[in-house]
Amino acid sequence: MSTNVSTRAGRAAVSLSALAAGDAFGARLLEPDGAQAVRGRVLPPGPWEWTDDTEMACSVYAVLYRCGRVDQDALVAGFAAHYDALRGYHRATDHLLRSVRAGGDWRALAPAQFGGAGSWGSGAAMRVAPLGAWFADDVAEAARQAALSARVTHTHPDGVAGAVAVAVAAAVAARGDPLGSHEFLDEVLDHVPSGTVREGVADARALLISADPCAVAAELGCGELIGARDTVPFALWTAAKHHDDFPGALWAAAAAGVRAGGDLDTTCAIVGGVVGTRLPGGRLPEEWRRRTEPLPEWVPV
Ligand SMILES: [Mg+2]
Repeated sequence: MSTNVSTRAGRAAVSLSALAAGDAFGARLLEPDGAQAVRGRVLPPGPWEWTDDTEMACSVYAVLYRCGRVDQDALVAGFAAHYDALRGYHRATDHLLRSVRAGGDWRALAPAQFGGAGSWGSGAAMRVAPLGAWFADDVAEAARQAALSARVTHTHPDGVAGAVAVAVAAAVAARGDPLGSHEFLDEVLDHVPSGTVREGVADARALLISADPCAVAAELGCGELIGARDTVPFALWTAAKHHDDFPGALWAAAAAGVRAGGDLDTTCAIVGGVVGTRLPGGRLPEEWRRRTEPLPEWVPV
């Protein structure tokens, strides 16, 4: 694993491994002993297996590694080639990737989802943090590339905006500068198009006065609807609040997710992928790295 955080690929690889740790941690906490682990803040025994969030993020990273930008056809081909039905894909994405594998065209399939509305789910946001880290030297480009990466599966404006918000957050975090929580979300808001996700991030900014993730999640949602609108604002509140404390950020996300029953692996994947960009030396804490399932061998890290 490259940890040269001065390169685009190095920064993105760090974000990807941290996203996988968050995803796997969140998924592990959905097991029966998860609530007890959260109460005691004791990491549950490994191995922790990552889910669809990580599998798709690996394809995002691989396309950037090969092309230096989002090639939408290559991205969808990667999603379809590596799709594993046992990794917890949601039904719409499951259907889309199976259809692409059978020869379908994503340009027709993606906009047709949900009766022609397109998907407003959190699936484009959950996989995009490494892209933001890649383009940390050009935040506006991070926002543009994030939108391209989203639209191959999520064409509803909320689905796209969720990906833009997370990518910009990862880009800002990955610069590694000293960062105030309010300024962090201000920079995200500068790039997110208007709509319900942007309104949610603005609400998250106003709630930075709170220290209680459960109370904040009750206001913003924490993935109960598996939508970008009810997932991304809370995840970015958590990242902004704890941007230099990787374990603290993930425990905060977990506390709210376990209580509310939200989409815990996705919330933790987003938080991990964003906050992980600031880990000293790009290294995951050893007790997290040891428990997390390694990335697949086809990923060029
Ligand atoms: Mg998942």
